[in-house]
Amino acid sequence: MVDLKGQYEQIKEQVDTSVLEVIHSTAFINGPEVHSFQKELEEYLNVKHVIPCANGTDALQITMMGLGLEPGDEIITADFTFAATVEVIALLRLTPVLVDVDPDSFNIDPEAIKKAITPKTKAIVPVHLFGQSANMDAIMAIAKEHNLYVIEDNAQGIGANYKFNDGTIVKTGTIGHVASTSFFPSKNLGCYGDGGAIFTNDDDLAHTIRGVVNHGMYKRYHHDVVGVNSRLDAIQAAVLRAKLPNLDNYNNARRSAARKYNNAFNNIPNIITPKVEGNGCGTNHNTICDTCNCHVFHQYTLRITNGKRDDLAQHLNDNGIPCGVYYPIPLHSQKAYRDDRYNEADFPVTNQLIKEVISLPMHTELDDEQIAFITKTVIEFVNS
Ligand SMILES: *Cc1c(COP(=O)(O)O)cnc(C)c1O
Repeated sequence: MVDLKGQYEQIKEQVDTSVLEVIHSTAFINGPEVHSFQKELEEYLNVKHVIPCANGTDALQITMMGLGLEPGDEIITADFTFAATVEVIALLRLTPVLVDVDPDSFNIDPEAIKKAITPKTKAIVPVHLFGQSANMDAIMAIAKEHNLYVIEDNAQGIGANYKFNDGTIVKTGTIGHVASTSFFPSKNLGCYGDGGAIFTNDDDLAHTIRGVVNHGMYKRYHHDVVGVNSRLDAIQAAVLRAKLPNLDNYNNARRSAARKYNNAFNNIPNIITPKVEGNGCGTNHNTICDTCNCHVFHQYTLRITNGKRDDLAQHLNDNGIPCGVYYPIPLHSQKAYRDDRYNEADFPVTNQLIKEVISLPMHTELDDEQIAFITKTVIEFVNS
């Protein structure tokens, strides 16, 4: 699904040198490497504060701790996503409220958010799934009307732009009150181990969060709030500093692969290619242009509409083509997150998507020959 080796070969010299420098400096935790990465990412995202931490799941948990959310508070998030999002909500004894998604973007459906709001609702967690922003115009308007926090889960969207209806263009993860991301190796900006970060433009919240990540300390050995220990280590920061200047090129390479996939699958029966929704540059988005950068294709996900998805996955495996089903089970049906409040009729889209979606290899090193082989194999099987 990913080719981390091929990508490493391109930046080997820089990574090797800076990782060795960290080892020689023995500043393994925090120190100048982590600080420089933080500053460089703040500049890239155009956000006031980046707070590095140990992984993307911690990042989500810490944002919720930093906002002072309390047991019983209801947090609305998408039913169709990775479990980390709902897991931390439940761990903090907050109440997850899962809602359906939009069939074209796979992202949380603003109309479903509206229906799920109660007097206990405190926050919305949109996940920019597969590399494309959720509908932040609608989500921010709902949040404003109901006085809710917006926490963006940007683990799959780093580097993507969002264009507001008024034309303003910003990076995903800088729109809500606070955002989290992951530097897991296969993410668009991945390190060589675990890593994560929190972004916010709110000075007070950034201060609170800097204490939460460090045992609740604002002054050494004074524990003012309950915190955690969640750090990005300097070796990972060195890898991320080597990769960050290439992030836009990496995302261009992903888009280029997505465009080739789309061209091959265009007008093929029983296959729905991913839709690019953002208002981007105002052109026909199914062409996936680089100008607006509104989809960074963390995953390239097709819908197979004739019931052959599972057989296709098997067939691809048999032919040495990796593929993934993200995600095969809706979160509301997971044993850990079942709740009497859920009604199957409220999840028509997720319940459909879990039967149809299949993600193809997507990374920065895909070549034309590989794409031709993959697309030919898919097309022949789906309509055989
Ligand atoms: C990867 C991911 C996470 C978790 O990140 P980790 O670094 O693996 O903890 C959270 N949310 C989403 C949407 C993700 O894709």
